[in-house]
Amino acid sequence: MVRTLDDTLEPIFQDVLHRNPGEAEFHQAVREVLESLGPVLVKHPEFAEHKIIQRICEPERQIIFRVPWQDDKGETHINRAFRVQFNSALGPYKGGMRFHPSVYLGIVKFLGFEQVFKNALTGLPIGGGKGGSDFNPKGRSDAEVMRFCQSLMTEMYRHLGEYTDVPAGDIGVGQREVGYLFGQYKRMTNRYESGVFTGKGLDWGGSRARKEATGFGAVYFVREMLRARNMDLEGKTCVVSGAGDVAIHAIEKLQALGARVIACSDSGGMIVDEHGLELDRIRRIKEVERRRIHVYAEEQSRARYIKGGTVWTVPCEVALPCATQNELNGEDARRLVENGCIAVAEGANMPTTPEGIRLFRDAGIAYGPGKAANAGGVATSALEMQQNASRDSWTFQYTEQRLEEIICNIHRNCHDTAVEFGAPGDYVTGANIAGFLKVGHAMVALGLI
Ligand code: NDP
Repeated sequence: MVRTLDDTLEPIFQDVLHRNPGEAEFHQAVREVLESLGPVLVKHPEFAEHKIIQRICEPERQIIFRVPWQDDKGETHINRAFRVQFNSALGPYKGGMRFHPSVYLGIVKFLGFEQVFKNALTGLPIGGGKGGSDFNPKGRSDAEVMRFCQSLMTEMYRHLGEYTDVPAGDIGVGQREVGYLFGQYKRMTNRYESGVFTGKGLDWGGSRARKEATGFGAVYFVREMLRARNMDLEGKTCVVSGAGDVAIHAIEKLQALGARVIACSDSGGMIVDEHGLELDRIRRIKEVERRRIHVYAEEQSRARYIKGGTVWTVPCEVALPCATQNELNGEDARRLVENGCIAVAEGANMPTTPEGIRLFRDAGIAYGPGKAANAGGVATSALEMQQNASRDSWTFQYTEQRLEEIICNIHRNCHDTAVEFGAPGDYVTGANIAGFLKVGHAMVALGLI
């Protein structure tokens, strides 16, 4: 059954469709949040009075700009870049930059919208924003990536600042790209403003455990969901999609907690290794050599590679989507449930389609949506900002402990909010309402701005 919006929310959603034509991912993200908010408006009439929902769906500022750059042969290329500063009721805009050919305004807006609620859930003083470009870093030399990043920052620097807008990485933007972007920001502003970027290298203002945080956090979240059902991860068979930053660290933490991870993927296909994936091998192939995941099966004969395959076809008890949006559809969800999957936690942003989410909820499995389950990344970015502000550098152990506490708090908050609003066990309702309440109350308090 498709969930319906109540009479107050439907016209607001229709208006979002009308004002933002052709932005399917943004529509999807907004609808998913609005579906949870009916009972909130009944309990808090002040939100309707102050038009908080209409305001929260409209970004405070959207910046679109041209990025010209030259490749190694001297040929000129033109890309388009975006920074959407969505909501700053709780703090400076905070959210990553994505470099991928699929990036357009609708993707950046969906990510920015999600980020507002996710950042609120962390309990830390950060607003929500997101950015990116349709630039494809794959196959480009370091020098080309550097020239592109420098050109992009030559425009974007004027919109940033440690008290204004603090970007980080996302798909296609790792430490290399953050370095080039931060370096150009420093040059343009003549300021060593560490707090303006997170995901930095350890030698130049980065935080320990930031790289690991999103993947580790998603695993802590799934552990908490299982604990709430008197289960744990020990011995559980798991699959993880993707083989990037989030996926690799999710695999690392799952293995550390005694789970057996048997499949992961990249956009070309998936590998299955029933004995358990060898993480060192994946790290070398993906992080050091920057090659494709099929190399794993070429090197390790007991593993198999399925070109174009998705990990959702592999029977498992726990599934972590850690690649990209809408990578897990209704058919995948049905297959997972039929194969005995009991928990799904989203390391990626909006990886499950609305039909997939509905199937997980109907089946009563523990389902942790991205805005709660992958909040460990941005939470640790906020911890990086704290370290920068105090000119301090924390140990890995201390930072990870803070991360774990934050994720346990998010889990508890989502869990308890779902109970309070009559939907026990429904983390989608819990996350949407808990995140919305925090931002909504702040927006009312700050007046009509
Ligand atoms: P990376 O670029 O490091 O990795 C993305 C991975 O997903 C790559 O292995 C990529 O493969 C793979 N991938 C992309 N599309 C598909 C597909 N259709 N099927 C299978 N695999 C695919 O990005 P991150 O790990 O940083 O980000 C992954 C997700 O997590 C994104 O949704 C991001 O928004 C979200 N996220 C990231 C955070 C972070 O801290 N990095 C924080 C919170 C959320 P290929 O190399 O072939 O493209």
